[in-house]
Amino acid sequence: MAQATLKVILLNHTKSPEETIAHAAKLCYSPASIEQLKGTVEKSDNEKFVARLLQLGHLSPLEHAIFTFGIEGVSRACSHQLVRHRIASYSQQSQRYVGERRKKEHETFDFVVPPSIEASGKREWFVDKMREIQDWYDELVEVLGDSGEKSNEDARFILPNAAETKIIVTMNVRELIHFFSVRCCERAQWEIRALATEMLRLTRAVLPSVFFKSGPNCVKGACTEGKMTCGHIEEVRERFRNL
Ligand SMILES: Cc1cc2nc3c(=O)[nH]c(=O)nc-3n(C[C@H](O)[C@H](O)[C@H](O)COP(=O)(O)OP(=O)(O)OC[C@H]3O[C@@H](n4cnc5c(N)ncnc54)[C@H](O)[C@@H]3O)c2cc1C
Repeated sequence: MAQATLKVILLNHTKSPEETIAHAAKLCYSPASIEQLKGTVEKSDNEKFVARLLQLGHLSPLEHAIFTFGIEGVSRACSHQLVRHRIASYSQQSQRYVGERRKKEHETFDFVVPPSIEASGKREWFVDKMREIQDWYDELVEVLGDSGEKSNEDARFILPNAAETKIIVTMNVRELIHFFSVRCCERAQWEIRALATEMLRLTRAVLPSVFFKSGPNCVKGACTEGKMTCGHIEEVRERFRNL
């Protein structure tokens, strides 16, 4: 049995993201050459300038700075929600090229156990079902001819949403702000919320001038969820203030 837990690594990001954003924005307003402007931007207080851009809602310069994350220990249910965000690049471990056949007795593919199932006392029952699915998967691979990707590609149809996946994602800063606003919200599903919150923690450490007020919409102003509001806005604000 192999229960997976969330792991997020910030693999890479634009060098000097504030400078890159400020350079792009100032170009819009300046008669100077790009080279001249670069010199000015390098010596400027870009933190204040970038904060002002956010206030003005001039957000396209934020698209020039990108962050790349390595994500492990999430379920296919979670990755399916993640890849709905279209302004991003993804590379995901393939269930065709990487088979899930049992290598040792009693072993299973890696999977995520939802906290609600742990809390309900049904964890062992759930793990048993994963073992059963592993048996079915192995049986299918045998039936389909055990020829690597050819059998994997159809045997995977028996795998559950709980199956663990690994994915590398790159998003620009503007898309990250949007992603955090919908996926850090209490209304988002618990797993993608945990993932988005960890991504926010990592990006805020690099670019606080942009991400200090990022998170669900209620962190910046009123709750936008109407009747669906979680109803504990102050608690949520406090959590994101102290991330
Ligand atoms: C709480 C919650 C519940 C959800 N429930 C469901 C559900 O039941 N069923 C379901 O199918 N999905 C559901 N979703 C997914 C949701 O509908 C979006 O597909 C997902 O959140 C991606 O966000 P997005 O479309 O805003 O933006 P992204 O793809 O991240 O794009 C960012 C922004 O770019 C703009 N944009 C991108 N592409 C286009 C385009 N083609 N045309 C115009 N503007 C564009 C939009 O302004 C968009 O907001 C849910 C999401 C959340 C947070």
